[in-house]
Amino acid sequence: MQTNRELFYRHLALTSDAPLAIEIEYARGVRLFTPQGKSYIDFISGISVSNLGHAHPEIVQAVANQAGKYMHTMVYGELIQSPQVKLAEKICNLLPERLDSVYFVTSGSEAVEGAMKLAKRYTGRNEIVSFRNAYHGSSQGALSIMGEESWKNPFRPLLPSLRLLDFNQTEQLNQITDNTACVFIEPVQGEAGVMEANPEFLSALRLVCNRTGTMLVFDEIQTGMGRTGSMFAFEQYGISPDILLLAKAFGGGMPLGAFISSNEIMASLANNPPLGHITTFGGHPVCCAAGLASLEIISREKLHDLALGKGEWIRNKLKHKNIAEVRGKGLLLAMDLGDEKKTRRLIELALEHGLLTDWFLFNPHSVRLAPPLIISEVEMEEAVTILLRCLDLL
Ligand code: PMP
Repeated sequence: MQTNRELFYRHLALTSDAPLAIEIEYARGVRLFTPQGKSYIDFISGISVSNLGHAHPEIVQAVANQAGKYMHTMVYGELIQSPQVKLAEKICNLLPERLDSVYFVTSGSEAVEGAMKLAKRYTGRNEIVSFRNAYHGSSQGALSIMGEESWKNPFRPLLPSLRLLDFNQTEQLNQITDNTACVFIEPVQGEAGVMEANPEFLSALRLVCNRTGTMLVFDEIQTGMGRTGSMFAFEQYGISPDILLLAKAFGGGMPLGAFISSNEIMASLANNPPLGHITTFGGHPVCCAAGLASLEIISREKLHDLALGKGEWIRNKLKHKNIAEVRGKGLLLAMDLGDEKKTRRLIELALEHGLLTDWFLFNPHSVRLAPPLIISEVEMEEAVTILLRCLDLL
């Protein structure tokens, strides 16, 4: 009989030459366990998904309860499903008043695709603006607005009428015009290596969008659900988007995404043609039940507020001659070593020492640090001690 490792390499379509290839037996809290009994501290939360760690009992219970009641019943938007409506109500109550209509999908890329269609349909325009080093997903529309040429060139032709601007360059914002349907932006660019938007830049962007009637789309797929120290990163900038995108941690570990806007804007997907956006599995009731439990826990335990202090704690401890800079907001952090080889080696060494970190798509000299928001001080101490020991070994 072939081992799981052999089957993994034999039958899984792999798009990387060097997958981590660690077999997972089970996961609890901030730790992943292998069948051989080795454990790893998960210091990346499955790329910003497991904000409540692994197997949180309330989420497990919510999943089990809902699975026992019903799973899939009908395509999205036909039947009234309690987990969907409760989650939509709860998330809208946390958002500005005009973000009061939720379209559920199953992934980040799908949220991006839905938002593109919504903005084009509502404005009647077709130009889409995005920023260099942005990551919005891997489907063809999301790939089209990716801010890094080498990743998308082999897949052309992609969407037409795109404009790529430099992040944080206010003087380029005049390229947003009456022809622009929407602007996609991550308030903190994740895959660029945790690059924060300047508040003045975002304010200027909001004003330009207001003036030109362009929809401002915030991709909070990675920054949302408390990761950066507020429930949504935009709250820290004093402005709000016309369309908000969520996914990753939104489903509490289950596949769930959403694009959220106003009832008036969303109504444009209901005519000419009707059923302007269709999904079979979007808002799956088990995923919404998990998402609802997760949102309740984050709100109740104020994990978003705590993320600020925890991020600060980690940054204060990470002082080492091999660290050029630690950037970040809340618990979305990048430890920049200023050197690609050292970064790769550090990630390998950390893994050998039982700490799972990772790299960033568009920043080869920084290490990704994004632990679950529930991480305790003792666990942070353990993780930072491993990192400092590995930095010594470089
Ligand atoms: N937007 C951002 C900011 C992301 O970080 C990601 C995933 N890394 C996506 C979109 C795409 O999400 P998904 O992989 O669920 O399609």
